[in-house]
Amino acid sequence: MAGQQHIICVDDEDGILVALRHQLQPFSDDYQIDLAHSGHAALDLVAEIERDGDQVAMVIADQIMPGMKGVELLEEVHRRFPDTIKILLTGQAGLDTVIRAINNAGLDRYLGKPWDEPDLRMTVDVLLSKYQLSRENQRLIADLRRSNDELRHLNADLEKRVRHRTDELARANQRLSQLAITDGLTGVYNHRYFHERLALEVERSGRTELPLALLMVDVDYFKTYNDLNGHPAGDKVLARVAELLAVGRRVNDVVARYGGEEFAVLLIDTPAQAAAAVAHSILQRVASESFENEAAQPDGLLSVSVGVANCPDDADDAGALLLAADSALYKAKRNGRNRVAVAGDSGVLRSLK
Ligand code: GH3
Ligand code: MG
Ligand code: MG
Repeated sequence: MAGQQHIICVDDEDGILVALRHQLQPFSDDYQIDLAHSGHAALDLVAEIERDGDQVAMVIADQIMPGMKGVELLEEVHRRFPDTIKILLTGQAGLDTVIRAINNAGLDRYLGKPWDEPDLRMTVDVLLSKYQLSRENQRLIADLRRSNDELRHLNADLEKRVRHRTDELARANQRLSQLAITDGLTGVYNHRYFHERLALEVERSGRTELPLALLMVDVDYFKTYNDLNGHPAGDKVLARVAELLAVGRRVNDVVARYGGEEFAVLLIDTPAQAAAAVAHSILQRVASESFENEAAQPDGLLSVSVGVANCPDDADDAGALLLAADSALYKAKRNGRNRVAVAGDSGVLRSLK
């Protein structure tokens, strides 16, 4: 504990002070015994003790002194240090004085003069123990408060970190689920996701009786393109074709890489005629895009063929719709490539070149 602890004895009679100092000798190992001849001198001592960071453990004061009375002194001490032990030691205190000392100065003990020496020592001993216990109590409470505060801070910190990690995890999960449905080369949906959505949309179309169109898109003579320009150049073409397929699509539409150089496009709530128009615009967009060294392709350009089918005209389940779009695609291939074929049509629609 920081600071020296003091016992202040206050009396205007030298003899009393000397006797007190002598009788309190057994406490002088732990306490500095200070003497004051008046209330004012005692308050000066108190101020000095406070300035030095020391503690006033006890004040033993006479009541009748010139200037400040003992009770006034003890009141002032009590106001500043409520825990300090206060003893009034006097032969002439009336009941009123004692009552005032108890009520206003938190008086711990009244001792009459002349006093009994062992009684004084025992009283001082007991009251000093009480003082130390109360100080120890306060220290423990302060320690507890500090520990509580630390715990609260740690807890808040922990909660913040948990929140942060949860957010990170949610973001990572979102990235992961996005990755799980995305084709790595082209960035459009992958084969697995396409099949999931196809099943879902065919079911929905059957239920709502709104038409659903499927385009199967295949790059023409792509093996030749790879052979002539290398696979990395072929990869670039696939990525660009995927971008062109996505241009102008509605948010609900699904553009997916079906496999190799083949793409599938699901057009929600789209009847046959509108689907054929979309197919033609795709054909046109790819044909008019300039690809690296496309002049060396068999037809002098890089193109796609598109097969179109729809529910409910050509199929009423996912497998049949896929089959119908695929047959239309092969019809387009057979008829010379760079064109659209619509399932169920006897003729083949030529691209608008
Ligand atoms: P067709 O006009 O009849 O469709 O002829 P094609 O040459 O395009 O068709 P084929 O099925 O003979 O060849 C497809 C080629 O696509 C062969 C394969 O190496 C290539 N391919 C498939 N996946 C990829 C890929 O991810 N990157 C590249 N660069 N090529 C791929
Ligand atoms: Mg091909
Ligand atoms: Mg193919």
